[in-house]
Amino acid sequence: MKYKPVSAWKVRDKEVIEKFAKDYLEFMKKAKTERLTISIFEDMLKEKGFIPLDEFTGDPKDMAVYHINSGKALFALRVIDDLRSGMNLVVAHIDSPRLDLKPRPLIEEEEIALFKTHYYGGIKKYHWLNIPLAIHGVVYTSEGKKVEIHLGEDPDDPVFAIPDLLPHLDRKDKSVKEKFQAEKLNPIVGTVPSDEEKEAVKMNVLRILNEKYGITEEDLISAELELVPAIFPREVGIDRSLIGAYGHDDRVCSFAGIKALLSAENPSKSFGVILFDKEEIGSEGNTSAKSRFYLRVLRKILKMQGISDVEYALDEVLEKTCVISGDVCAGVNPPYKEVHDINNAPRLGYGIVLVKYTGSGGKYGSNDAHAEFVGKIRRILKESGVIWQVGLLGRVDEGGGGTVAKFLADKGAQVVDMGPALLGMHSPFELVSKADLYETYLAYKNLLEKM
Ligand code: MN
Ligand code: MN
Repeated sequence: MKYKPVSAWKVRDKEVIEKFAKDYLEFMKKAKTERLTISIFEDMLKEKGFIPLDEFTGDPKDMAVYHINSGKALFALRVIDDLRSGMNLVVAHIDSPRLDLKPRPLIEEEEIALFKTHYYGGIKKYHWLNIPLAIHGVVYTSEGKKVEIHLGEDPDDPVFAIPDLLPHLDRKDKSVKEKFQAEKLNPIVGTVPSDEEKEAVKMNVLRILNEKYGITEEDLISAELELVPAIFPREVGIDRSLIGAYGHDDRVCSFAGIKALLSAENPSKSFGVILFDKEEIGSEGNTSAKSRFYLRVLRKILKMQGISDVEYALDEVLEKTCVISGDVCAGVNPPYKEVHDINNAPRLGYGIVLVKYTGSGGKYGSNDAHAEFVGKIRRILKESGVIWQVGLLGRVDEGGGGTVAKFLADKGAQVVDMGPALLGMHSPFELVSKADLYETYLAYKNLLEKM
């Protein structure tokens, strides 16, 4: 009669967990930005025979296709039969909190060259001080040439760093907001002067940038350069049970989703994965979950299938679609457990977490999954032997947050949030349990097959 969650470590074969974790660790060494993540997934899809939708010429009722939007968002779909039967989808996001360079980033102060940055997403600013930072991104020159910059991941590469004030001179009792200011998150870029009279250090940095990448200061205006922690993903704990890395939120669900898509067998209907950008800033812009690119993909497939009333058929498809919004949630962190209602809080190692609703206050901004849909998910997880638990973000009125769930629900789909619990979420070194990672993959695979 009584419900009791179980530890995945007690049920699942440890070798199976380790094998999946190893693949994920390798992936996370390279997937440091949304662009890099999408290009890794594109390679994985191609290897398994997926082809770009715009190049597809075969049977529109049997397709393995994908569409990439601006290098930062992806829709991969296995079409089986009539699309009007609906789809099973895992939907996640591939952007993570970070420091972006401003359009005019390079300054010199007190003979030190610095980058001016603008933080992206919800960060605790002190997390970004005194850690090695790598830079990744693209620059477009005035001639329209694309230059890729990746610096700081190789142990021989230089990194960037934002030095904090020493404790000896930091004894004034200030609030966190006063102490850690966004305009002071300026990593050091260089300290060697050139022969110029003014801004000699900045001029030396510009000379190096020009020699190494062929770019000028003005080119930095048409650039997307992201500073991310240059911290190698590692196993954590003497039992090696956790993986510490930057960007689990939400590359962990994205990776599990793509792996599930590529291994799903005998699905009941069409199934796929959508990976959005810009979730961390409220799903704004044309690569986000609020954008229309994935609807355009569906319209195109409906047209290819010879359906005349595409607009009506699209609504039909979406209403018959089941979506797992793959995103992470906050696990119980022992010294801070007071922020949770402990019976409704997820624990590391107890499997994938089903989050019926997110949001804040009186469920504002949430997708509240219907009981019927949660019941269906429960039955599939049970049949498939997946280890799972329930979780909510925190105590009521403690704070809140959202996912992409509501944007898909707005379109008519049944949606529920499911993903692993993290500790240290939105920090430069987030922790996930290897056991939860595997159950997340297993849940996505079975749900893509059976929803
Ligand atoms: Mn997330
Ligand atoms: Mn997040």
